[in-house]
Amino acid sequence: MAGQLRFTVEQVVWQEVPGEVSLAFTISGCPLRCKGCHSSAARNPSAGVPLTLEYLEARLNQYRGLISCVLFLGGEWQPEPLKKLLSLARAHNLKTCLYTGYEQVAPELMPHLTFLKTGPWIAELGGLDSAITNQRFIDLSTQENLNYKFHKPHRHQGVTHVAP
Ligand code: SF4
Repeated sequence: MAGQLRFTVEQVVWQEVPGEVSLAFTISGCPLRCKGCHSSAARNPSAGVPLTLEYLEARLNQYRGLISCVLFLGGEWQPEPLKKLLSLARAHNLKTCLYTGYEQVAPELMPHLTFLKTGPWIAELGGLDSAITNQRFIDLSTQENLNYKFHKPHRHQGVTHVAP
């Protein structure tokens, strides 16, 4: 339905937004067609249940003091309802993050976002934990690229390093 987003998965996650405990929603209806998409269920626009402002408000009240961020995995293809959901999260003094497969999103979303992950899934280049990925995770308050925070620690002469 136009003007309303739906979601298939809701979960609390620790790794998708570095340093934050995020309530994450996988939004239905991604129009991109990345080869090897890990989330084919997310591409069906009628999958899942509606993500209304009332529902989000109730969840944010339940999670008060337990989460620091709300993460939307998709939804940018309907900027108006997403903007309202982001605004509600901000009104609860929470950070916000959007994972998009696009390189850019509607400008009206930007003031409501703390973090933005851009870029489609390209298997040969890998995700945010890959040094050669096409994807970028940006802290919009500083414009800093935080991809390095996703790189896995590796062992070198007995000392654990985080790859640059
Ligand atoms: S952006 Fe994500 S959900 Fe959409 S097609 Fe690409 S991998 Fe799948």
